[in-house]
Amino acid sequence: MTQTSLTWTRERAEEMDLEDPLAEKRAEFWIPEGTVYLGGNSLGALPAALSGRLQALAGDEWGRGLVASWEGAGWMQAPERVGDKIARLIGAGAGEVIAADSTTVGLTQALLAAVSARRDRPTILTSTTNFPTDLYAATGVAALCPGVALRAVAPDDLPSAIGDDVGVLFLTHVDYRTGAMFDLRGLTAAAHLAGALALWDLCHSAGAVPVGCEENGVDLAVGCGYKYLNGGPGAPGFLYVRRELSKQLANPIRGWLGHAAPFEFSAGWRPAEGIRSFLTSSPPILGLAGLEAGVDVFADVGMADLRSKSMRLGELFVEAVSERSGELELASPRPAEERGSQVSFRHSRAAEIVETLAGSGIVGDFRPPDLCRFGLAPLYLRHVDVFDAAVGLCEAAAALD
Ligand SMILES: *Cc1c(COP(=O)(O)O)cnc(C)c1O
Repeated sequence: MTQTSLTWTRERAEEMDLEDPLAEKRAEFWIPEGTVYLGGNSLGALPAALSGRLQALAGDEWGRGLVASWEGAGWMQAPERVGDKIARLIGAGAGEVIAADSTTVGLTQALLAAVSARRDRPTILTSTTNFPTDLYAATGVAALCPGVALRAVAPDDLPSAIGDDVGVLFLTHVDYRTGAMFDLRGLTAAAHLAGALALWDLCHSAGAVPVGCEENGVDLAVGCGYKYLNGGPGAPGFLYVRRELSKQLANPIRGWLGHAAPFEFSAGWRPAEGIRSFLTSSPPILGLAGLEAGVDVFADVGMADLRSKSMRLGELFVEAVSERSGELELASPRPAEERGSQVSFRHSRAAEIVETLAGSGIVGDFRPPDLCRFGLAPLYLRHVDVFDAAVGLCEAAAALD
């Protein structure tokens, strides 16, 4: 194949950057010189504003303000304040989301709450492709609740498996290996029709693809703070409970922060109203500072722009690789509408390829047994980055002996 026959070139990628309405967002992150960072679906990049934010927290707020800062610096309200900012990104309403505990804890909390509300329907239905921690959380919940069982079926078998016994349909919207996206709207509707609740894991969706929690009637959702939301290593996750439902569901992990009046120190449990009842402990303020800095970068970004850039990046990556290499098999759905914000390729020597790429500053990751996985974070990636990664990937595959 001669160079001139290629459609997807670096010049074309440069033109796409010139037309990119989100191009200026990159300056709001600290990206190491010479690095093409396609690991943002694992750990998002560092927001440039975070260091100033942490200095204020360590100086005025905690340093000088001490205990008075729980109220004076808005620490007490942080889980709901940050939650409201995330709500916009997932199409939820204000007061429907909190950010406080980890993703896996949130999943366990949501599953326990849902299972308790559907005692006559003892099956948690999921897909065999779900992320391991999700499967562990669900088997953990089943072990705690007599009669409850986890049933995992292949993705294609889900619609026919939503029967009378299913109390909770529990799925991860975007597959962590392939980026394949479930039909969240259709499956949520199918769950409701059968009398089940729908719980969605949005780890690879929040900050990358629109979810429309409210318009699609999602009952419960949990997601990660440190991937596309750029909240920093181990940042708190978030929990969404549909407004109407939060009156019916009980937080299974009771704690004083979820009490209607924590500072009355009364011995009897009385849950707070709405999403606040799902709080348990004193909020992790240092972690929430990171998450808030990450989420604030989205403040002036429309989800439609974000999604369309993400789809363009994906198309560029897939096409540039496909026209340069016959050895890499696309493991993600080809139509952009069916993918989240990542692209994976299959190769028997995927681990070596990912290592070679890392040596030239192109960061992706390996997922066993044979996937090279690349996250396409639309806030800070340029089209030329994605183009360079595509070329690097093809070269790394071609160089294997
Ligand atoms: C990243 C990820 C998690 C992470 O769980 P933590 O409790 O934050 O470690 C959970 N589920 C899915 C689908 C993920 O991609």
